[in-house]
Amino acid sequence: MTVDQKVRELQHFINGSLVDGTSGRYSDVYNPSTGEVIARVPLASREEVITAIENAKAAFPAWKKVSAGKRAEVVQRFRQLVSENIEELIEVICEESGKTKEDAKGEITRGLESVDLAINVAHMTKGEYSVNVGGGINAYSAKYPLGVVAAISPFNFPVMVPLAQTSMAVAVGNAVILKPSEKVPISALYMSNLWKEAGLPDGIWTVINGDKEAVDELLENNTIEAISFVGSTPVAEHIYQKGTSYNKRVAALGGGKNFMVVMPDADLEKTANAFLGAAYGAASQRCMAISGAIPVGKETADKFVAILKEKIANLKVGPYTDETVDFGPVITQQSKDAVLAAINKGIEEGAQIVVDGRNPKISETSKGFYLGPTLLDEVTPSMEIYEKEVFGPARIIVRVESLQEAIDLINDHELGNGVTIFTNSGAAARKFQEEIEVGMVGVNVPIPIPVGYHNFGGLKRSKFGEGYMFGPDQARFFTKVKTISERWLEEDDETASTFSFPSNESGK
Ligand code: NAD
Repeated sequence: MTVDQKVRELQHFINGSLVDGTSGRYSDVYNPSTGEVIARVPLASREEVITAIENAKAAFPAWKKVSAGKRAEVVQRFRQLVSENIEELIEVICEESGKTKEDAKGEITRGLESVDLAINVAHMTKGEYSVNVGGGINAYSAKYPLGVVAAISPFNFPVMVPLAQTSMAVAVGNAVILKPSEKVPISALYMSNLWKEAGLPDGIWTVINGDKEAVDELLENNTIEAISFVGSTPVAEHIYQKGTSYNKRVAALGGGKNFMVVMPDADLEKTANAFLGAAYGAASQRCMAISGAIPVGKETADKFVAILKEKIANLKVGPYTDETVDFGPVITQQSKDAVLAAINKGIEEGAQIVVDGRNPKISETSKGFYLGPTLLDEVTPSMEIYEKEVFGPARIIVRVESLQEAIDLINDHELGNGVTIFTNSGAAARKFQEEIEVGMVGVNVPIPIPVGYHNFGGLKRSKFGEGYMFGPDQARFFTKVKTISERWLEEDDETASTFSFPSNESGK
């Protein structure tokens, strides 16, 4: 297959074809490693979104009628095509997101776990059946697809998040409209070609590129039955509130502030190694990135910070084309500016800078959006850098005196996506997992992102609505249940009218 969208005027993917944008509005797509514009993505008007929705609506009834086994075959072929084209897809991800090749491969592999689950659609959507619930009556509940559903994705996982949001939605028989991040639209268009090649009927997978205007139409349009959103907390909250006010099913996953609690009995050398990758990998642009460490006790904190300082000095930042780098740039210049502002504000508020990554040395000519790893110590809960999610490689140390203090601190934070504890004490780990108010909890695991067949989602303001990403919940979220009571009359069966409410008493 060809990557005909590689630099260039990008398009939408509607009704099985790439189509030009007609709104006259565009957004630049950057290669963050070089700072160059590599493409222009059209930003859809409401009319274009309506056209996409109408095409999806028209395609839905036929796809719904295809048996679950046959739908699974298409998803299986799509999976095969992703695997066959993985090197090219890695290149696409790296170019538009700046992440390293290993990291891009990791996101594809993890995304494929949700495709694997979707291939099991027949099993995932089996209903329940009860015989003889009344005289000659059998009852069963069955899952049906919703119709046209939408997914809105963030920039930081151009492949994994869309796969996790859409694979099961397609497999259970819906028509899906994906609105990828306008910062990384090329991966989504690439996947469109693979779905087509896999034999998915036209109109069942749509990519509509755009910004708030396109999202507003998805939120307000009566044909859209459900919305899966993944992005920052303020937008997640807005999507949830607006989407539900239009009577849609909405799962909106937001940001995270994910701490690593370091107990005095932990092996600090190993814990520091775990911290480095989980905290700075992907330039810290992961919703599950470790935002900071909370060492328990002064001695632990002093030793841990000293070890980190030494190890951070060896980290290498640069373009993905250099396979020795540990992480790449942040996504845009605005993003870089926001991280710099967060660091400066932290210092102004009294944090101690241990490692300063504000001016990394890449090359004389590089215009990429690079930041080196930064570590701030003595951060307190009243500081902005503690409160806010920082989506770039500035990490913090918050010192506490006890495990209880660490738990209380984390529970008081408005976000609750991921958390982890490093300890050799079973009792401490047990107390932690019992008392912590965070959705995804690790014990001696640096990034506690669940495997693809478990539900993924945070608590508190990290997730709005009763729905998850990945996992078996996808089969629930993207289907509706009908419960059917069925009786076939025989000639001598009683059919007299009964005016009392049907109950088990009557036996009929
Ligand atoms: P973002 O919220 O800026 O954008 C996400 C999506 O929403 C994009 O498609 C964007 O076009 C759209 N959008 C942005 N502003 C909008 C508005 N006002 N109205 C309607 N739509 C709007 O997020 P991002 O910067 O692309 O991604 C990073 C954020 O996503 C971080 O906060 C990260 O923690 C979070 N994230 C969360 C998870 C999770 O599973 N909880 C996973 C990945 C990323």
